[in-house]
Amino acid sequence: MANRVTIEKLAAWLAAQDDIVVLGHVSPDGDASGSTLAVWHALKALGKRAVVCLPGGIPRMYMDMPGSDGVQDTGDPLPFEPKAALSVDVSDIPRLGEAGQKLFEACPARAALDHHHTNEGLGQLYVLDGEAAAAGELVMDLIDALGVKLTREMAECLFIAISTDCGHFSYSNTRAQTFRAAARCVEAGIDVAALTERLYRTRTRGRTLLLGLVLAGLETSPDGKIAWARLTEDMLAAAGALREDNEGIVNYLVEIEGVRFAILAEQRGESTKLSLRSKPPLNAARDVATPLGGGGHECAAGCTLQMPMEPAIEKALALVREAMGAGNRE
Ligand code: 5GP
Ligand code: MN
Repeated sequence: MANRVTIEKLAAWLAAQDDIVVLGHVSPDGDASGSTLAVWHALKALGKRAVVCLPGGIPRMYMDMPGSDGVQDTGDPLPFEPKAALSVDVSDIPRLGEAGQKLFEACPARAALDHHHTNEGLGQLYVLDGEAAAAGELVMDLIDALGVKLTREMAECLFIAISTDCGHFSYSNTRAQTFRAAARCVEAGIDVAALTERLYRTRTRGRTLLLGLVLAGLETSPDGKIAWARLTEDMLAAAGALREDNEGIVNYLVEIEGVRFAILAEQRGESTKLSLRSKPPLNAARDVATPLGGGGHECAAGCTLQMPMEPAIEKALALVREAMGAGNRE
């Protein structure tokens, strides 16, 4: 049974461990990448042996983060036998990916730090704050609780983690503490202009072409409230894009005026990954992702279905229409 604990308890647990593997979720985003790396910097400051493992390794767009060259793919052999595992930004065991799950479960000591409301706990102990805009906010608290000084390297990782998970301080999850955490990153010496140019004002040619291909196939419901699009493996090849170049495309769908629910369907071999975004009172996690075996947040959620794209889209659309109908009757 996983025990929900305070950040101080988690810090005390971590301080007593060595040979630690820090794990993030599949399709690592800015929060998973930055949060795990910031923990790694803190563990190094404590003189511990530690390694960050992410499914597929560090995404290309986060390769400038300090320490990222030491990040491993969860499937690769580790430089040491890990005795403890800490998962960060991971809402449930399957989100670790197959190799990550094996790695996590093989460790005698296991803990988690997360900010997904749907997290029911993993490992022997876990910290969960569903109000935090990013796991990065909680990692900053963990660094404080460990008594480690926040360095510029840690702050760069944490700023990327926090900023990317709250839509650069614009989503409803952005709270006063989010700005305070960001302010501390600035105080620690980060270059805001350089970091945000890399994050928000630079994209590869492949990513740009992929965006065009996906948006060209946009569909909307007759009332204009639901938008969906497809990302196929052929489009990835035609654009010369990487899988991670999908990040952010679904936002273009939900940002269409009048749209209340957006679905990006991605072909993954025989299965389909759905990226879901919603506007209140619709709830992407509750209304669609969770019933389909996935999860996530109120406004951003996802799931993977073992079926081709078209039936997967139909399944999601049926649930969206049902949720919209339920709303109308209230
Ligand atoms: P994205 O659409 O960007 O892949 O995911 C949006 C959010 O939904 C992520 O922050 C993640 O928490 C959640 N999410 C996406 N896919 C899954 C999934 O298959 N299972 C669960 N539990 N959560 C997911
Ligand atoms: Mn996150």
